[in-house]
Amino acid sequence: MQLQRPDLLRDNNYINGQWQAAASGRRFPVENPANGEKLTEVADGGTADMDAAITAADAAQAAWQSETPKTRAQILQRWYQLIIEHRRDLAAILTAEQGKVLAEADAEIGYGASYVEWFSEEAKRIDGDILAAPSRDKRLLVIKQAIGVVAAITPWNFPNAMITRKAAPALAAGCCIVIKPAHETPLSALALAALADEAGFPAGVFNVVCGTQASDIGSVMTSSPLVRKLSFTGSTRVGKILMEQCAATVKKTSMELGGNAPFIVFDDADIDAAVAGALASKYRNAGQTCICSNRILVQDGIYDAFAARFAAEVQQFRLGDGRDSDATMGPLITRQACDKVTALVDDALSKGASAITGGRRASIGEHFFEPTVLRDATPAMRVFQEEIFGPVAPLFRFEDEQQAIALANDTNYGLAAYFYTQNLNRVWRVAEALEYGIIGINEGVTSSEMAPFGGMKESGIGREGSKYGIDDYVELKYLCLGGLDN
Ligand code: ADP
Repeated sequence: MQLQRPDLLRDNNYINGQWQAAASGRRFPVENPANGEKLTEVADGGTADMDAAITAADAAQAAWQSETPKTRAQILQRWYQLIIEHRRDLAAILTAEQGKVLAEADAEIGYGASYVEWFSEEAKRIDGDILAAPSRDKRLLVIKQAIGVVAAITPWNFPNAMITRKAAPALAAGCCIVIKPAHETPLSALALAALADEAGFPAGVFNVVCGTQASDIGSVMTSSPLVRKLSFTGSTRVGKILMEQCAATVKKTSMELGGNAPFIVFDDADIDAAVAGALASKYRNAGQTCICSNRILVQDGIYDAFAARFAAEVQQFRLGDGRDSDATMGPLITRQACDKVTALVDDALSKGASAITGGRRASIGEHFFEPTVLRDATPAMRVFQEEIFGPVAPLFRFEDEQQAIALANDTNYGLAAYFYTQNLNRVWRVAEALEYGIIGINEGVTSSEMAPFGGMKESGIGREGSKYGIDDYVELKYLCLGGLDN
């Protein structure tokens, strides 16, 4: 890999301001999902390494918490600038280990950095409150204090941004953090650590432990009494396990879990806008985002026209190695991911759906699946209930608004939903009826550091980003000042 700063490619864990091999001495390979090529080997951290990271974070906590907000803001600001300065290298590392095309990797670095910039600003606005008092001899005050050491477990689909979205608010609030990235994508996490080190976070404030033994490392994070909060982004299945584990020490949790986003196109939609929005929300990262449209619900009157135009656009994607400038869609993360997508498509085809385009694994490599549009999908198919996490768009048909809302809400998930209509009354009715934390209205791209990201139902707890994002990392403390004689 050609980098301007080769030292951003790290292969040891970052604990207490030091680069450390695993206590066990073990290492694990990191592979390029486009071709299986081994990029490097990284220290395979385990329970002892995570324990050391938590101890370091705990030791650094009191001093970090008592720094002035301005000092924390300045270090975060430096980290932001370094990330932007080394954006090309970070994108190259990200594409090499994750597979998304370079343009998308570059966009992720910008997106990830935006959280660091935003929370560097918010660090100075963690204001308390003075409340009206019930009697003349009292004054009621509320202050916000850092929650304490934060443990973060992050996924492989956004190896940069899912870290900054947790680390930036935690650090801004005065929390030290220990991070366990997904073992598929440790290099982006370690590169961020290298830049955090350069930015000047004191030793122990920011720690990254990579490793393949996720459940063992996770157990240390969830059981340690030194950890006050767990922030997780990943599957609903693992999120539930972690919440159970956190119950024993009543840890606060933030959970960004799976999704099953409906994308509703009403007869009165601007069809060009709907096609563009569906493309953007479905196929980004080859369909591997938790807010990807999972079920495209199209009203009767517009169904055939939408299907034809959408499929024509989907045929324009060019699959390839993300580093190849011709490619507009990369591979899936693993062969198992590709197997799962294949099984979901086969299930739909066996129950009466038909592929207008795609429908199979691609011939260019083991991890590639053809960009696919399925017609005549029905709720009896697995694609209606399960998160596809691949470049497959099933089109369902509905008759009226009530039916669309009922179909959209017929899932345990509640992360993102999208709908297209030009009727203002419908905009409000549908927006209020959808049981989702994020709603795109005539818009397929909703994410921004300025907006709250998070889900309802089994999609999670808490919000990341925006002025609300800091709330997940602070405790409210109520001070009752009594005995006043005025
Ligand atoms: P995905 O389907 O995106 O891989 P996962 O929920 O399996 O979602 O993984 C998200 C993160 O959770 C990764 O960092 C992974 O290593 C970690 N993880 C998986 N299983 C466990 C577990 N039992 N305990 C703690 N972390 C886990």
